[in-house]
Amino acid sequence: MNCQVNKKCGSCQYIEMKYDKQLQLKYEEYKDIYKDFHVKIYPIQGMKNPYGYRNKVIVAFNKKYEYGLYEENSHRIVPIQKCLLHDQETHDVLNRLQLLFKKNRISIYDSKRKRGLLKHVLIRRAVSTNQTLVVLVVNEPMFKGSKRFCQELTNKCPTVKSVVLNINSRQTSVVLSKNEKVLYGKGFIVDELCGLTFKISAQSFYQINHSQCEKLYQKVIDLLDVKKEDTILDTYCGIGTIGMVVSKYVDHVIGVELNKEAYKDALNNGKMNRIENIKFYNDDATEFMKKQVALNQKVDGVIMDPPRAGSTKEFIHAIQVLNPRYVIYVSCDPHTQVNDLKEFQKIGYSFKDVYLYDMFPHTQHVESIVLLSNVEK
Ligand code: SAH
Repeated sequence: MNCQVNKKCGSCQYIEMKYDKQLQLKYEEYKDIYKDFHVKIYPIQGMKNPYGYRNKVIVAFNKKYEYGLYEENSHRIVPIQKCLLHDQETHDVLNRLQLLFKKNRISIYDSKRKRGLLKHVLIRRAVSTNQTLVVLVVNEPMFKGSKRFCQELTNKCPTVKSVVLNINSRQTSVVLSKNEKVLYGKGFIVDELCGLTFKISAQSFYQINHSQCEKLYQKVIDLLDVKKEDTILDTYCGIGTIGMVVSKYVDHVIGVELNKEAYKDALNNGKMNRIENIKFYNDDATEFMKKQVALNQKVDGVIMDPPRAGSTKEFIHAIQVLNPRYVIYVSCDPHTQVNDLKEFQKIGYSFKDVYLYDMFPHTQHVESIVLLSNVEK
């Protein structure tokens, strides 16, 4: 398939390459990253149909009401009428928004003159329930005629279950602010993943590739080393997905997440799925681990899924004291994961295998999972 914007948006480095070639190339590259460990690197788990997989997009509009992504290192918008990574419904909703913005003469924010209303639009899809969340990022808390706007949008696009106004008047590259107003619906959508139901609100992290995410989580389940009365920590837990998915295999799960909205979603998700052996905390993962050390908490296993920057030395040193039997390390950036793995080796944790998942086809990224075992246990 051909990408009509010709990679100008900078998202898909490999879009012109055949998919099996991409997997091969990424495998060679990532194999190299782990070479010092002398471990087995399994072939990358790819997708059957590697298109339309992204469930989230953030676009900006230009004065002609064309929507797109910013050209790399510039303020110019590259229109993406049909991006191969998103499903048809995402485009249908964006096209409808385009008509409505035009019709309602919504002013587009001009970053040079610092004037105008609409800065970005975020679309999030719950693919298994076919629900859509629309977030309009605006410069001021004004959206005249929002009721009629939402009515027209949802009449034409019935998958849209909620519309949220995010008011962000700051001039930074951070798209969303914490200031939100729900214009329509409940402010979140609901998706099904691994047989459970999850509420996802605008600010929360949610894996962007549904089918690959299910494979990834299944691997986490396969790697669990389960004993009676075990307590497992799910650190960097987002809306609680991994912890909840593994909760039926272990006695106690404790999740920790820094983002307050994601933490609130996690609490709700636990209740909604009637999971009683899971607790969530809203804290920085490193601080939380230090507190577990101070409390002398019994920890048998740790799952960690940090953001791209990886974890911290202090987090790993807390693990040394807590002394769990194993750590399952899920990473969206193997480059930073290897630094943390070296620290783990120093404190007596080793691993034999690396499992790679293509969560982001056509891009240079992969997700990886490693099971670290305590050599003394
Ligand atoms: N395990 C989840 C989320 C992984 S993404 C899933 O599979 O969906 C990483 C998560 O770490 C995000 O939700 C982010 O908000 C959170 N995070 C980032 N920095 C953190 C920190 N210092 N302490 C705790 N959580 C953090």
